Amino acid sequence: PLKIGILSIQGAFLEHINVLTGLSDEYNLNIIEVKTSQQLHHVDGLILPGGESTTMALIAKTSDLFDELVKFVHNPNKIVWGTCAGLIFLSSEISYAKIGGQDLLKALKVKVSRNAFGKQLGSFSTQLKVPCLLEPEKYFPAVFIRAPIVESIDENSKTIEVLAYLENLDAKRVRGINHVEGEKIIVAVRQDNIIATSFHPELTRDDRFHRFFLELVKEKV
Ligand code: GLN
Repeated sequence: PLKIGILSIQGAFLEHINVLTGLSDEYNLNIIEVKTSQQLHHVDGLILPGGESTTMALIAKTSDLFDELVKFVHNPNKIVWGTCAGLIFLSSEISYAKIGGQDLLKALKVKVSRNAFGKQLGSFSTQLKVPCLLEPEKYFPAVFIRAPIVESIDENSKTIEVLAYLENLDAKRVRGINHVEGEKIIVAVRQDNIIATSFHPELTRDDRFHRFFLELVKEKV
């Protein structure tokens, strides 16, 4: 079976487990809640869920998981997917970082802006075009909850590919970037073995993003 781990120390890990459970027979999955580094060593692919990225990093630090996660996400033979707080945790830099900051896995060569939609638009859902998914012409229902955005991609990084943009939003509501109205905002990326989304595919009935992830894992094992 494909061994799929979900980092289960904080946040919306059960929702990912539910979607994977629905795909379990079709993909022959062994779904593993990862709370320790031993459990991490068993998995072929790992999901970093949404939640609160500062807390997630803090718990990982105090439970010896942090250094093992750094190794895991830098291993080209493992597939990693971060959603929302998971995207932040994978990133290299945060704009508006607080003094003292927060620990990041620094695998994904992007700078993110946390809570980029502020309070007023803290949560919303919208339809996105995501060409890498099955039935690409069918919009993907994207749920954003106090979501980050990818503010910029490291210009030295040659392998980052944008998987989805948010296009139909009043740009003035997005903070953290000198945003020109109508300009596209990056909300999903891929960098080699890592994919990351600002939004929460595990909170919808559309399982195409989970399938995309599982297909990448299948190619590696
Ligand atoms: N706002 C959260 C953070 O900064 C992320 C929110 C989420 O994962 N839904 O970590």
